[in-house]
Amino acid sequence: MKNIYDCTKEELENYFISKNEKKFKATQVYEWLYQKKINSFDDMSNIKKDIIEELKKDFAISSLKIITKQIGKDVCKYLFELDDKNEIEAVLMKHDYGNSLCVSSQVGCNMGCKFCESGRLKKVRNLEAYEMVLQLLLVEADLNIRISHLVLMGIGEPFDNYDNVIKFIDIINDPKGLALGSRHITVSTSGIVPKIKEFIKDGKQVNLAISLHAPNNELRSQLMPVNRAYSLDILIPTIKEYITKTNRRVTFEYVLLKGVNDSKKHALELAKLLDKMNCYVNLIPYNETSHIEYKKSDQDTIMAFYDVLKKNNIGVTIRREFGSSVSAACGQLRAKHKEEQ
Ligand code: SAH
Ligand code: SF4
Repeated sequence: MKNIYDCTKEELENYFISKNEKKFKATQVYEWLYQKKINSFDDMSNIKKDIIEELKKDFAISSLKIITKQIGKDVCKYLFELDDKNEIEAVLMKHDYGNSLCVSSQVGCNMGCKFCESGRLKKVRNLEAYEMVLQLLLVEADLNIRISHLVLMGIGEPFDNYDNVIKFIDIINDPKGLALGSRHITVSTSGIVPKIKEFIKDGKQVNLAISLHAPNNELRSQLMPVNRAYSLDILIPTIKEYITKTNRRVTFEYVLLKGVNDSKKHALELAKLLDKMNCYVNLIPYNETSHIEYKKSDQDTIMAFYDVLKKNNIGVTIRREFGSSVSAACGQLRAKHKEEQ
């Protein structure tokens, strides 16, 4: 049975039209689900009894189970169990500008990036849109907060689950629902070029982040197998096309791995690669994990890398480290839980 949290408002409107009902009922249902946050059809008190019965027949209204929760300063990490017992993670971060949630888009990930815990676990399946929606609703309810920003940077490659991710964005973006503004939503990809092109065509106003992690093909292909299929020679022109067509700035994520991609020479090469692009670089201190040999760069090395980019007029920030105390980097909590079992 279809889950009610899997419906865009338009789909619900079409459902009501097919039942010879007025389509504004879809707006009413959306308000119940996403503004009043009730999770039972019986509580939708402005909707007629017979329609409630129809809804109950046609839609499930399920939830996810919270398996564990790790609370740190300004951060709360959740491990969820899905209906089929698979496990995924979400991380809530409290910033001065609001509450930001990082959600998973798949169970595991097939991209196989060498430094990533999620990549060690092959993809089991894509998440449905409702399973992404529920991560958000559950964290809001559990902490009694409003989430103002959302990033698709948990377990999984969002552009390897493109249709469900776009549907998820449509649902949380709907003004009659959670009304999360497009500019407050960021989707991060390892660089699946055909999907970036589709994303340009779709014209969604959400932010795009690209996981770059290396300034040349040789190193990038070592770290990220996806580069063998879509090398920098086509990724960079595609990003330039995105910037020209959307007039928007792109974020490049760059995880600093000790002795691997963090020298001044790498920084200079990166500055050249990104020269004159409307972009900025988010330097990510590596979150070490027990199964993977990569180490975090020293603070001095991180600062030196930062300085080279700055001097070469590349916008750059260093990501605040929320994660280390609560295994917050993508896939770590799930891996740890699996080991403990
Ligand atoms: N698959 C997508 C989105 C999820 S990963 C992507 O790769 O963009 C989100 C970000 O976390 C990516 O930039 C990824 O490279 C980074 N990341 C993965 N493991 C990490 C770790 N252990 N420490 C720091 N960042 C990590
Ligand atoms: Fe997948 Fe992203 Fe991890 Fe790469 S970094 S394995 S794309 S989740």
